[in-house]
Amino acid sequence: MEFATNVKNKCHDCNKEIVINGKNIENGFYLAYMHNEEKISVFKCNDCYAKSSSLTNFQKCEVYSRVVGYIRPVQQWNNGKKQEYNERQEYVMPSGESCGC
Ligand SMILES: [Zn+2]
Repeated sequence: MEFATNVKNKCHDCNKEIVINGKNIENGFYLAYMHNEEKISVFKCNDCYAKSSSLTNFQKCEVYSRVVGYIRPVQQWNNGKKQEYNERQEYVMPSGESCGC
C-alpha cells in the first residue's frame, strides 16, 4: 500500500505528525475501519498505539458543502451528487502565477 507523501498525516489521538517514508510508517500505525459502508482511515503514533490499538472516541461529524447553490449536509445528498463530491479535487495554484485579481 502506498501513502501520499505530500499529505500531512497526524496521530488520531495526540495530533503528533506521522512520518511516512514511501511505504513505511516510521513512527506509527495505519488503521482502517468500516462505518456504515464508509471507510475510515486513521493514523496512530507508536505511543498512542501502545496505550490503545483501537479507535475510540470516534464521532461521526456532519460535513456541509455546496450543492446546486445551497450549503447542505453531504449525507443528505443524492447518490449522484455524493459521487461528484467524492471526485472533487482541491485546486492547487501553480506557484509564481497570480490569480489576476
Ligand atoms: Zn499519538
